[in-house]
Amino acid sequence: MPTYSVEAFVLRHRDLGEDDKLLSLFTREHGRLSAIARGARKKNSPLGGSTDTLTFARFMLAKGRRFEYVTQAQPLRTCLRVRGDLERLAHAMVFAELLERTCGEEEPNEPAYSLALLLMELLDSEAAPACVLLWAELRLMGLLGYAPLLDQCARCHRPDIGKKVHFSPSAGGLVCAPCAVHLRDRLPLPAVAVEELRMLARATEPPEELRATGALRRVTRAAWRHVLESDLKSAQFLDELSERA
Ligand SMILES: [Zn+2]
Repeated sequence: MPTYSVEAFVLRHRDLGEDDKLLSLFTREHGRLSAIARGARKKNSPLGGSTDTLTFARFMLAKGRRFEYVTQAQPLRTCLRVRGDLERLAHAMVFAELLERTCGEEEPNEPAYSLALLLMELLDSEAAPACVLLWAELRLMGLLGYAPLLDQCARCHRPDIGKKVHFSPSAGGLVCAPCAVHLRDRLPLPAVAVEELRMLARATEPPEELRATGALRRVTRAAWRHVLESDLKSAQFLDELSERA
């Protein structure tokens, strides 16, 4: 079988058969790929640690008739802090699910790969996980062509949007009060959320803190729901954690 090397982020692993794993990989070179890691669940398997969800690794893949098979794996980054902290882990899982559901199979997206690498590095540091994720979500929307319109009304294009501002995923951004009445998916936004949403969309790195985290989270959730046509499964876990905190 011909083999080739990829650098990849493990978006998800699932048990397969007795001791194999089915991996959903986001590769730097080829976008998303599914690969089977034979024997990876066996004790002392050389593929064990490198094939866990949220690991970055270099993989040697063999092209089979129907699937790719992992023949070797070398971990590049294991993000121990993220693994040991439920809150950080929950934030990372949301981003992994977003990549899995928005990036096409075998469609390379190097900027999105680099963003995933940076997100994991930031989540593995002291940075506030909610700020990191919201910032990265806005970046990802931009990379995928879903950046919300924030400097004018997304429906009537009036530059002066007024004081009563809403967000509408179907309109594609912020909307003024007269437009909002026509939009069933409108979300009223306090002024601080509008200000922070605009700041996040421009920022080249995550802010240290945000005052309107809850409102901003509702905005990104609604925007992704519009794109994906369903809710993020991993976001429910994050909500449950936030409720408990
Ligand atoms: Zn308008």
